Amino acid sequence: MLFVPRPLIGIVPLYDEPRNSFWMLPGYMQAIEHAGGIPVMLPLSSEPSCLRQLAQQLDGFLFSGGQDVAPELYGEQPADYCGAVCSERDAMEKTLLEFVLEFDKPVFGICRGIQFMNVFLGGTLYQDIPSQLQTEIVIPHRQKPPYHEPVHSVTVEPETPLFCVLQTGETLSNTPFEIPVNSFHHQGIRRLAAELKTAACAPDGLIEAVYHPNKRLVFAVQWHPEFSWQNDSNSRKIFSYFVQNCGE
Ligand code: MN
Repeated sequence: MLFVPRPLIGIVPLYDEPRNSFWMLPGYMQAIEHAGGIPVMLPLSSEPSCLRQLAQQLDGFLFSGGQDVAPELYGEQPADYCGAVCSERDAMEKTLLEFVLEFDKPVFGICRGIQFMNVFLGGTLYQDIPSQLQTEIVIPHRQKPPYHEPVHSVTVEPETPLFCVLQTGETLSNTPFEIPVNSFHHQGIRRLAAELKTAACAPDGLIEAVYHPNKRLVFAVQWHPEFSWQNDSNSRKIFSYFVQNCGE
């Protein structure tokens, strides 16, 4: 019988500092497993040789949600509306992402993941969207439970990988379309890194999905498909797209 190994997907661990606990939301692991991958929770290490080996040996990397990215990483002082940061994750993700991009391994960022990717590549963030982004349309970016339910739309731009992944029979080939998404974030992309391209925006103009056009597979979303994959086929399509492209 032909044995086809499943892609091994490293997931950046969550860190609860007050409880001194590394942990993981089941949705990240279950959605990857459902899409045909094997999820592996990574150590919260910033040791370069350890992360270099992981970057070489694993097939893909999921940069998960978590604390705010330290504003110092994009040249700002933390304002009082900035939330808790996690220097261990900042340090780990900086080293890991460097190796992962160097080896051109697939990367999928979620929430903090899109923010960290943008900062790493030279972009900036809103330290707090309600305090810093005043728009006529006010979007509820930080929803209450249940977190799988959509609370705002995003417009998916044509000629992006996300467009190809989520288009349906009714989609016109060059016309943006909207999808409903959940939203649990208070930070977001302010200035997009030069190397990244926008794939989707919320109605208030906030960039909610990006990709790297010159890499094999580097993309990220601001919303949380790991909360909605059981209810929402778009969320499942996104995880399948990621995992299936880690396997080649
Ligand atoms: Mn949002």
